[in-house]
Amino acid sequence: MTEESSGTLKDLQNIDLLLEQIKSRVAEYDPLLAEVEEPALALEQEVATLKGRLQEVQVEERRLEHSADDRRSRSKMIQERLKSVRNLREEAAVRAEMDLLKMALEGDEHEALTLLDQIRKMEDRLNEQQSALEEARTAVEPRRLQLVEEKEKTLQEFALLEEKRKTFAFQVPPRDLQNYERIRSGGRSVAVAALTPDGACGHCFGMVPLQIQNEILKGAVSIACEVCGVLLSAGDDAP
Ligand SMILES: [Zn+2]
Repeated sequence: MTEESSGTLKDLQNIDLLLEQIKSRVAEYDPLLAEVEEPALALEQEVATLKGRLQEVQVEERRLEHSADDRRSRSKMIQERLKSVRNLREEAAVRAEMDLLKMALEGDEHEALTLLDQIRKMEDRLNEQQSALEEARTAVEPRRLQLVEEKEKTLQEFALLEEKRKTFAFQVPPRDLQNYERIRSGGRSVAVAALTPDGACGHCFGMVPLQIQNEILKGAVSIACEVCGVLLSAGDDAP
C-alpha cells in the first residue's frame, strides 16, 4: 500500500515537471508574437501620431478661415462707413483702417493656403502609411495566427494535465502530499527521488545510511535525504 503511494508521488512529480515544461513552452510564445507584431505596431504608432498632427493643422486652418471671413465682413462694414464720412480727415482714418484690415486678411489667406498645402501633403503621407500598415498586417497574419493557435493548444495541454494532476494528487496519502508540496513550495522542482541501485539519493547522489535504505526498500515513504532533503522512494527496479 505504502509502496504504491510512493510510486504515485513519483508520478505526481513527473506530472509537475511536465507542467513546468509546458508552462515555459507557453511563455516562449510571447516574445515570438511580439517580434511578429512589432513592425505593424511601429507603423500603427506612426499613423496615430500623423493623424493627431493632421487634426491639429486642420483645426488651425479652420480657425484662419473663420478669422478671414470675419475680417471680410468687417471690411464691408467699413466700406459702408466710407459713404458717410463728413471730411477728408475722417475719410483718411477709415481708409487707414481698411488698409490694416486688408493686410491682416491677406496674411490670414496666405497662412491658410500654406496650411492647406501642408494638409494635402500630410494626407498623402497618411495614406501611404496606412497602406504600409495594412501590408505589414497582412504579411504577418498567417504567422501570427499560427503562433496564437499553437499557444492556445499548449495552454489546453496544460489545462488537461492540470486536471490529471488533481486526480493523482487525490490518490497520494495526505501526509506524503503535504511533505511533497512543502518541499516544492520552497522553489524546488524535484521533491522526490528514487534510491539508486547502490543506495544513494537519486537527486544529490549522497549515500543513504543502510538502515534507512532498508526502510525505504520495505516501502516507507516520507523519509527525506539527509543531504539534500528530497523525499526518498524505492528505485524503479527495487524488489
Ligand atoms: Zn539527496
